[in-house]
Amino acid sequence: MARALVSLDGLSVGDAFGERFFVSRELAQSLVEQRAMPRAPWRYTDDTEMALAIVQVLEDHGHIDQDALARLFATRYRNDKNRGYGGTAHDILQKLGLGLPWREVSAEVFDGQGSMGNGGAMRVAPLGAYFAGDMTRVVSEARASAEVTHMHPEGQAGAIAIAVAAAWACQWTETHGSARQLFEVVLDHTPAGATRQGLERARAWPLDASPSSAARELGSGQKVISEDTVPFAVWCAARHLDSFEEALWNTVSGFGDRDTTCAIVGGTVVLSAGPASIPATWLASREPLLLRV
Ligand SMILES: [Mg+2]
Repeated sequence: MARALVSLDGLSVGDAFGERFFVSRELAQSLVEQRAMPRAPWRYTDDTEMALAIVQVLEDHGHIDQDALARLFATRYRNDKNRGYGGTAHDILQKLGLGLPWREVSAEVFDGQGSMGNGGAMRVAPLGAYFAGDMTRVVSEARASAEVTHMHPEGQAGAIAIAVAAAWACQWTETHGSARQLFEVVLDHTPAGATRQGLERARAWPLDASPSSAARELGSGQKVISEDTVPFAVWCAARHLDSFEEALWNTVSGFGDRDTTCAIVGGTVVLSAGPASIPATWLASREPLLLRV
């Protein structure tokens, strides 16, 4: 649980930091170039709201109880709908709030394909931290956490990849594993499909290339789906396993779905770089977390 809470801090600070750069492209670019600290408070978004629900379910049940998770997603949504949820998420969460069964609601969106959005991945790093040490469990629990809203296999593959990356990052202070090893373990566990193919391209993209070139090659969440978000996020995390600040400044410079890429990278890199790697001013800028509802 302690590891999950560390990841949650990294995720929420990343989410709230990235969100502050949703300004015009020119302004965002110049702020990033100057590393101008966004003005506080930094309000967190749906990435954090949903991660908070996952953490509460883990605390109460010790595993992903999917019915409990669906209820908590819906409760948090009802309490505060203004957190930047996507259109389909609004639809799903309203239906869950009406008590409709999550398995049907999650399966029926996008003409019965289910969502391949990046929402399963954006909220899952604390789960990877919680089950670190048992990768089989990390994979099954990550899939279970995604299914509640993302029935499409790609939506689940993204969640699995990020949970595995977070679990691997927990051991980093002892192993100092390489970026290559991070990609190996993530690829070993991510099911075949477009997200995994993107991860293979990310592994091949040089780590000394610029984040903007990686964003062009891999996508940085412009389509808000797993395959165009997760590979770039893992590439950014792999590049800066030892520095939360460097990781986030580089991640946000890919623009795209910047609250979510920064949430994923923040929730992962804080586990390798350690909780003290989040600057105190950044933590203080993020609005306080409403941990339980
Ligand atoms: Mg968001």
